[in-house]
Amino acid sequence: MSQVEEFLSKEEEQEIISAIRVAEKNTSGEIRVHIESTTEKKPFDRALEVFHVLKMFNTKDANGVLVYVAVNDRKFVIYGDKGIDNVVPENFWNTTKDAMQIHFQKGNFKQGIVNGILKAGEELQSHFPWQIDDEDELSNEISKG
Ligand code: CA
Ligand code: CA
Repeated sequence: MSQVEEFLSKEEEQEIISAIRVAEKNTSGEIRVHIESTTEKKPFDRALEVFHVLKMFNTKDANGVLVYVAVNDRKFVIYGDKGIDNVVPENFWNTTKDAMQIHFQKGNFKQGIVNGILKAGEELQSHFPWQIDDEDELSNEISKG
């Protein structure tokens, strides 16, 4: 496999986008997903790079979250902006990682990503509740590398 299209069907992509919408109904945090087949870099470094390429620092509360996935490497990274880091405990993303890992181990990437997004939304809710004047600051579309 080399093309990202082979990892996810159109229906699966829509499920992921729907999960982002659901998650963002509860939190002002902005979640994006980037999927690529592989990376030469350390996944964390690559996630940080993608975060900047997607201009995900462009949120009022610095609360963008990138779910980065390198499918062939079976690696993923959850990278939250500094507004999140400033207010959450160090192991904040562990529940989200666990929600993803269980499905990734079985090769079910779509379900792992969906569950991770929903979990991230739940976790963010207490620190960054949805506000009446909420805007969709970052696109919900899946980014593909
Ligand atoms: Ca929003
Ligand atoms: Ca959004």
